Amino acid sequence: MILSSNLGYPRIGINRDLKFALEKYWKNGISLDELQQTADRIKTANWIVQKDMGLDFVPSNDFSFYDQVLDTTFMLGAIPERFKQEKDLEGLDLYFAMARGWHNDQGKTIPAMEMTKWFNTNYHYLVPEINANTKFKLNPAKPIDSYKLAQTLNLNTRPVIIGPVTFLLLSKSEDPSFNPLNKLDEVMDLYANLFKRLREMEVKWIQLDEPFLSMDLDGLGEDAYQQLFNRFNSHHGRPKVMLTTYFGDLFANRDLIAASPFEGLHLDMTNCSQPERVLASVQEGQMVSLGLIDGRNVWKNDLTKTLNTIKEIYERFHFENIVVSPSCSMLHVPQDLRMEKNLPGEVYLWLAFARQKLEELSELKKAGNRNFTPTSFFQNNQGDVQSRREIAKIEALQITAAHKAVSTKRQSSFAQRKASQQAVLYLPVLPTTTIGSFPQTSEVRKLRSQLQKNAISYEQYKGELEREIEKTIHFQEKIGLDILVHGEFERNDMVQYFAEKMDGFVFTDNGWVQSFGSRCVRPPIIYGVVSRPEAMTVRWATFAQSLTDKPVKGMLTGPVTILQWSFVRDDQPRSETCRQIAFAIRAEVQDLEAAGIKVIQIDEPALREGLPLQKKDWPAYLDWAVECFQISSSGVKDETQIHTHMCYAEFNDIIEAIARMDADVISIEASRSKMELLQAFQKFNYPNEIGPGVYDIHSPNIPDVAEIHDLIHNALEVIPAEQLWINPDCGLKTRQWAEVEPALKNMLAAVKQARKEL
Ligand code: GLN
Ligand code: ZN
Repeated sequence: MILSSNLGYPRIGINRDLKFALEKYWKNGISLDELQQTADRIKTANWIVQKDMGLDFVPSNDFSFYDQVLDTTFMLGAIPERFKQEKDLEGLDLYFAMARGWHNDQGKTIPAMEMTKWFNTNYHYLVPEINANTKFKLNPAKPIDSYKLAQTLNLNTRPVIIGPVTFLLLSKSEDPSFNPLNKLDEVMDLYANLFKRLREMEVKWIQLDEPFLSMDLDGLGEDAYQQLFNRFNSHHGRPKVMLTTYFGDLFANRDLIAASPFEGLHLDMTNCSQPERVLASVQEGQMVSLGLIDGRNVWKNDLTKTLNTIKEIYERFHFENIVVSPSCSMLHVPQDLRMEKNLPGEVYLWLAFARQKLEELSELKKAGNRNFTPTSFFQNNQGDVQSRREIAKIEALQITAAHKAVSTKRQSSFAQRKASQQAVLYLPVLPTTTIGSFPQTSEVRKLRSQLQKNAISYEQYKGELEREIEKTIHFQEKIGLDILVHGEFERNDMVQYFAEKMDGFVFTDNGWVQSFGSRCVRPPIIYGVVSRPEAMTVRWATFAQSLTDKPVKGMLTGPVTILQWSFVRDDQPRSETCRQIAFAIRAEVQDLEAAGIKVIQIDEPALREGLPLQKKDWPAYLDWAVECFQISSSGVKDETQIHTHMCYAEFNDIIEAIARMDADVISIEASRSKMELLQAFQKFNYPNEIGPGVYDIHSPNIPDVAEIHDLIHNALEVIPAEQLWINPDCGLKTRQWAEVEPALKNMLAAVKQARKEL
């Protein structure tokens, strides 16, 4: 039999109802009851769609008020101590306090839990804090209540539960020598209890999410899975378990999987290098779930091809049942394509959002059970998939012509370039600059939205922004920065701004995807050849440059970051799409240079997060990512200075790639680590120049001169003065002018002092 399942559905609501309800609730605008009703409406609507589509396994407990990992922390009672001290905090308010931090009128504050990226997605989860003294206590209300609510619709759902090993591997401890996995036994007791409770309610199956099974595991990780398998090896007293893996390639852990006592195994077929060999480890009687529909991307599935794959697997392995599934939870795609009224016709036909993916699952199931005979639905699907393929073929011809082999190397060595640059830039020792953006005030944002609504003309808009630029340039001159910026006021977002100006992208009206909590993003969709019909930033940069004799830095977003924060084509490698973006950026760099801009920054804050989940895939990724940066940046003369910027603090394992990028100057986030991360550069003998951030822009605190001066000294201990730049950690767009002005003044006062002491 062919069955169908879903692993999780978008939970923000078709019109982002949850977002708005949450934000009202946080401002005391609605009651807890009203919030709960919104949640129940969303859950119910989702279940009805999935039921109507005839899914055999419909998930429950995939809804969350904020985050599924926080839900698990809460379910296990692993409340960090600092929240327990506030006796009045309980229930959902405690939960939100953990997510967002808490403060009272007396000025007492409790910081939120840390947030970080969920594997290689753009979703963020709250990092559980597990210490030696963490006390657990099962609080199974959420999965139970949600199961019961679905039952009122005559639906017996499959609760989604994050597994104990994944939960602990996602956790951190305040004592770095304590490994949260030490708590596995204790935590598994709670899971045993939970399973028992669910069994008593006659839950047939649970979906136990263990994505770490498809990551690199060390000995401790493998051991932990062995313990999990031993602990639950008897089916007695628990529902059946669909052991669910996703995002990575299960191949490396196929032997481990072979020891699983669970009744089902889900594997992500969109990330599986050798599915036959993984499937060979499935044991007799185990139910396999094939993640064939991409849960992370927005394209229609090629159903004919997929049906064939299912057939081949069915015939080759003689599985009794096969469950067709999305590769992972559909949390990562927008909910319903039918909400889009403004997409170009042909692109619309190529897309499938969550709701359309359910339809695909349902048609695959039907066809599978008709002896693998396609249903009529397959015809249209075939037509759409075909038309996309035809167009891609024609486009491919254009690209080979346009992207002639270019040299990806700068003309001269860094040392020579440095001399040429100095002859035009006359920079002092410890040169100063900023990362690009200045405060995006509500006035600036209002201007943009007025322009969009045609409430003001482009001329008016431009005039207003130019006034903002003038103010910013004069401020920078006055305080004595060496390399100025225009302030990026025209940018709604560092990726979208460029995407809107390039060909090959489309934008949705309602394609919201949860980033964290109530925050959603609408990633651009790259559907065709990326190119740049005309200059994107030159006018703003040259206007700013016309106001001052100091060099103004041209500001661009790099190709890897644009790629990472968009939905990308699935019909060609990511590297190819990235290369096309790189050529567009290269043209922009050359135009900026031709227009007299002497310093150009290409931001790559997403380069590190693009690293594949498994180390074996790192070198190949880093090769093309670096090459794309080089394509973007190498088409200029020696005297044009190329900067790049990255916001994170972990450079040890990628420093060699960073050096290959060969940017003249790299600025990085460093203030919070007290310059510790510079050691990676020192150890490597990093040859080019570095600007470690000396001002933590994430905090509203204004750093004083002494504090910054200390950081400069820390930096000078590891990096020679000739190589060192002074700048903030990141762009200033989220700050107020009242914070930025004194902070930057202090930064320059500290530099002045440090220069004297050299
Ligand atoms: N140039 C961008 C800015 O200043 C960089 C932002 C980022 O690194 N995320 O805002
Ligand atoms: Zn940054």
